Amino acid sequence: MNKRTILSIICCIAVIYAFSQNKPKNVILMIGDGMGMAQVNTLYYLNPNSALWQFPYRGTSMTYCLSDSITDSAAGGSALSTGKKTTKGYIALNRDSTANETLMEWAIKQKMATGIVVTSAMTDATPASFYAHVPNRNQYEEIAKQFIYSNIDFAVGGYLNNFLPNKRKDKLNLIDSLERKGYQIIYSLEDLLKATDMKTVGLLSEKKPPKAAKRGNWLAEATRQALEKLAKDPQGFVLMIEGSQIDWACHVNDYKYFKQEILDFDRAIKVVYDFAKTNQETLVVVTADHECGGMTLSPRINNLSKEKAARYLVNYVLFSSLYHTNADVPVFSFGPGADNFQGKMNNIDIHDKIIRLINNR
Ligand SMILES: [Zn+2]
Repeated sequence: MNKRTILSIICCIAVIYAFSQNKPKNVILMIGDGMGMAQVNTLYYLNPNSALWQFPYRGTSMTYCLSDSITDSAAGGSALSTGKKTTKGYIALNRDSTANETLMEWAIKQKMATGIVVTSAMTDATPASFYAHVPNRNQYEEIAKQFIYSNIDFAVGGYLNNFLPNKRKDKLNLIDSLERKGYQIIYSLEDLLKATDMKTVGLLSEKKPPKAAKRGNWLAEATRQALEKLAKDPQGFVLMIEGSQIDWACHVNDYKYFKQEILDFDRAIKVVYDFAKTNQETLVVVTADHECGGMTLSPRINNLSKEKAARYLVNYVLFSSLYHTNADVPVFSFGPGADNFQGKMNNIDIHDKIIRLINNR
């Protein structure tokens, strides 16, 4: 073989390698509900070794919706899931009530495995935006009914009562329906750790899920379980993970609650990062649906060492609102195709980029 042939073979391999690097087989979308820039910046102090700092690409996302400059989790989640901006309170529907295809519906059409892991009710706005279509995010019973027909493979969240006949107005037993569809139903974190089936639905709280301190390692463990099962699918998978209660903590301007929730989300990020680093075929995008609380870090923090700032952070985290704001939110990305998520984006672009990358694989 002459020098030229060897050189062209090396070139070919390099091109194929570079090309394959941009074609993810799997996608993990992580949403910190209400997690703006300042919320992420607290992690610099709370966990300087966060896996998030290993994500090579960063961008920002504009979160405004069709009806308002400040969105909610329904329109915000729907934008990420469907690639279409909509009205506040709407779940994967246009203003004229026509349905927009959710990311999970699209993934199922591609014969990919699907998963949802959240620390809110399974029927809350963010997870609902990935499988349901309703004009009002508070239609929890209808959303639960639509979940039955969503065919999501692996799902963990809270609020079992939305699925129970004695708690529903229509008396439907949705747990029976799920079992008939072949799902293993899990009711506690302890049992989730032993779950064996790919088709698993975990409803880990009767009502609103507890705060991180009382929840155990629900998010990280459910994430680990989801990855173990979904990664077995030869067609790849799409998994949405939400740190749901970052938003709830910011609504009440409760720093201690917020700290537990951001660290909880951070533990799930670590599980995902370790998986994606080894797997090498998985694109990971970490972002938010909107900011909440108008959080800033006081400039007085500059006078402190990092250690001191971490210890007394409660005194330096300032909230300016009890509601959502229209501040841009961060986008961190890792894995094949991650370089597409740099610079200033619109929230709907995140959806479009994911679809394009998977379509081109
Ligand atoms: Zn909120």
